Amino acid sequence: MYIYFTFITFILGLVLASFLNALLYRIDNGYKYPDIFIKGSHCEKCGKLLKTYELIPVLSYFIFKGKCSVCGYRVPLYYPVSEFFLGIGLASIYYYSLSPILYFVLISLFIFSYFDRIYKGVPRILVNVFLGILGMYFVMVTLLTDTVPKNAILISLGIILFIFLLTKILKKPFGFGDILVLVGLGLVLNTPLYILYIYIFIFFSTGYALLRILLKKATLKSAIPLLPFIYISFSILLLIGEYLIENWKILDIFIHLNT
Ligand SMILES: [Zn+2]
Repeated sequence: MYIYFTFITFILGLVLASFLNALLYRIDNGYKYPDIFIKGSHCEKCGKLLKTYELIPVLSYFIFKGKCSVCGYRVPLYYPVSEFFLGIGLASIYYYSLSPILYFVLISLFIFSYFDRIYKGVPRILVNVFLGILGMYFVMVTLLTDTVPKNAILISLGIILFIFLLTKILKKPFGFGDILVLVGLGLVLNTPLYILYIYIFIFFSTGYALLRILLKKATLKSAIPLLPFIYISFSILLLIGEYLIENWKILDIFIHLNT
């Protein structure tokens, strides 16, 4: 039964992600109410209306090989990937009975990721609201449980410094929104999870950058949007974080150093 509900959560996550991606696209492209909600989903290029069987999140993408059946427009791989990881993340929060604040965090990251991919930045107002809510959560948890999450603030400061130095050395501007969001996540994760999270994030973002350079699709100077990686890494952390912490002893070094 439990597995059954986890699966339902996964499916609901896919549907929600698909809905949010369409909604963001429409808001972003100046659709007016009520078109934002009632206009049928259609191809971004030729406007062909999509049939019901073409609207299944993730699955439709692979069945139709990511192409519009009329004009052959290539749907960005970003859509099915981002949708899949919202399903994975939400199902993981449910399955492991993690803090409900993480539903909010994951969905926020999903939305930031959409903006960052297109504009190489996130509307600052959204980041501010996000940080405000996480800040309140942090204070409440601290007050209610009478424990200050160890080193969360210290790690956050360390990361700001690290990214600041990296920006100075590489002369490559990182979006400031990225940093703020990364720091904010330090408020909802305990120290080992946060360290592991940074590892996962660095692994996927540099891996992707290297792959693009190898495939000659990018050079050392190309910037990649980081929030999609912040988002996907977070979903992966929710899925395997606790498991890795228990089985991956290298993190014990940090834990012992801290206690
Ligand atoms: Zn088309």
